[in-house]
Amino acid sequence: MFSRGKVEKTTPIAIKFDEPLTSDSCSKIIIELIKYILYQKQQIPFSCDTLLQLQSRIKPNDRNFNSTNNLFTTLDNITDQLSSQLHLDDCDIKEIVVIIGATTISPKFCVKFELPTLILSSKMHLEYQHSYRKPLLHLMRSLVEYPEFQEAMTAPLCPTNTFVLVQKSDSNPKSDFFLPKPQYTPPIQTATCISIKLYHNEDISMACTCSSIVKVYNDNESKQNNDRNLNDKIDNFTKTKAPYLWYQSRAIVKGFKYSSR
Ligand SMILES: [Zn+2]
Repeated sequence: MFSRGKVEKTTPIAIKFDEPLTSDSCSKIIIELIKYILYQKQQIPFSCDTLLQLQSRIKPNDRNFNSTNNLFTTLDNITDQLSSQLHLDDCDIKEIVVIIGATTISPKFCVKFELPTLILSSKMHLEYQHSYRKPLLHLMRSLVEYPEFQEAMTAPLCPTNTFVLVQKSDSNPKSDFFLPKPQYTPPIQTATCISIKLYHNEDISMACTCSSIVKVYNDNESKQNNDRNLNDKIDNFTKTKAPYLWYQSRAIVKGFKYSSR
């Protein structure tokens, strides 16, 4: 037998939420976790909060200015695009994979998110009734209880690329941000991979009062849309769907070190 080198493993983690996520809260908690991982894996020299503070003090001709600026533009872009994909009708995102490595087929580290089957549309649910902070806190608290997650965070990597890919069934015209990647399978077996399943109670009681508030502003469509949103994911299981395929975000996070020159 020839040596197959280091055997890598996938650590499965399941995080249960008390209530459904919205398209905005779901994309935000994923991006916040990506920010945390970027810092822990030394893809960025400081935490995003610190970088944000530094950014206001450094001059635009400083080379750190561009690296930091690109980082924030890329992350904001991915957050917005992900959120809009999550509340798009007839678009069902099953998984999101974050790959740190030179290319998408040579990962050094990856994180796979399995999304809940029901995600509320942020067009119909208000942010103040569905803040991302509570689920984010719950996610981070739960993750630190996994020694495997902590261990995976301790091994730094040289600054390289971070890719975001989504696996979705989508009957809409092609997005120009998430580009189709035919035949792709994330090579999660070849790198250290954390697989995080996000889910909630099947028995969902909607504690929010968004529908009555949204209705005031958008009376014509709200009733119809509300009913559709609630039943959409369930209906999707019975009607013919587009096949699940992988799509790659056009925006790539570029790792960098702080230049002291
Ligand atoms: Zn709501």
